[in-house]
Amino acid sequence: MKKWKMSIIAALLLLTGCQTSDQQAPVLTLSKSRVQVALNEKIDYSTYILKAVDDVDGDLTDQVTHSEIDTTSVGKKVIHYYVEDQSGNQSQQDLTVDVVEYVGDLINPITAQADTVENPEDVTVLVNKLHEIPEGWKPDDLEKVIDCSQQLRKEANEAYTRFYQAAKAQGIDIYTISAYREPETQQLYWDNSVKVFGEEHAIQYNAYPRRSEHELGLSVDISYTTQGDRLSEKVADSPLGRFIVSDGYKYGFILRYPQDKVRVTGYSYEPWHIRYVGVELATKLHNENITLEEYYEG
Ligand SMILES: [Zn+2]
Repeated sequence: MKKWKMSIIAALLLLTGCQTSDQQAPVLTLSKSRVQVALNEKIDYSTYILKAVDDVDGDLTDQVTHSEIDTTSVGKKVIHYYVEDQSGNQSQQDLTVDVVEYVGDLINPITAQADTVENPEDVTVLVNKLHEIPEGWKPDDLEKVIDCSQQLRKEANEAYTRFYQAAKAQGIDIYTISAYREPETQQLYWDNSVKVFGEEHAIQYNAYPRRSEHELGLSVDISYTTQGDRLSEKVADSPLGRFIVSDGYKYGFILRYPQDKVRVTGYSYEPWHIRYVGVELATKLHNENITLEEYYEG
């Protein structure tokens, strides 16, 4: 046989050899990275599997297996999902599950097991009933807001001043009610609320110490009035409430606790509470109509 013929055969053998040996593990994709489920809730494990695709074997979605978790106790648990292709290459993806106790639609922060955040100084940090500020941390660049002695962090305050002036320029009534809160103050509010009105009331109306965004110096409660019940759902129907929703993101602010996302944020609807996250992230959240929780955890 001629030399060139032999090289063609050799090349063909090599090629087929490559095709039969599958070295690539399948790509396993989950729909979320972290979810909350209620105490004693039955988990539908398959709902979190988006797809599993292998370069050689194709769609392996129906072959995904998983570990199981116990939902009869609160706490942070992990479900491991696995998939293997015909050649034995394995992939694993984890889903963190916070088993929480609900009081109505709200997470009970007393029994919830929270992670301590590592980046409290980052303006995009996620703080909620399951992510707490490190003990003793305080912002070091607080400044007074434009219309009273309340404080915000420098970057948030500069954005808030622009937001405030833009509202004023449109003839909208705007008043700062509450911004930065010392951790000690938040603790005091919580303890007092529990003592006077009971735990259920506190869960409904107060943030748990170290899990309030007000302690970050990035959140502010605003109203169209300084009289009466300033922080009520009436804010939503005011020109200010509408301005928050339509224009807040242009200044880096999001409506942090929307009406239709109570189960996601763990907080009641608060049309008066805005949070600074920077223009880039605020615009993304606005355009996709998602909360900070959905941005980080799917
Ligand atoms: Zn607030």
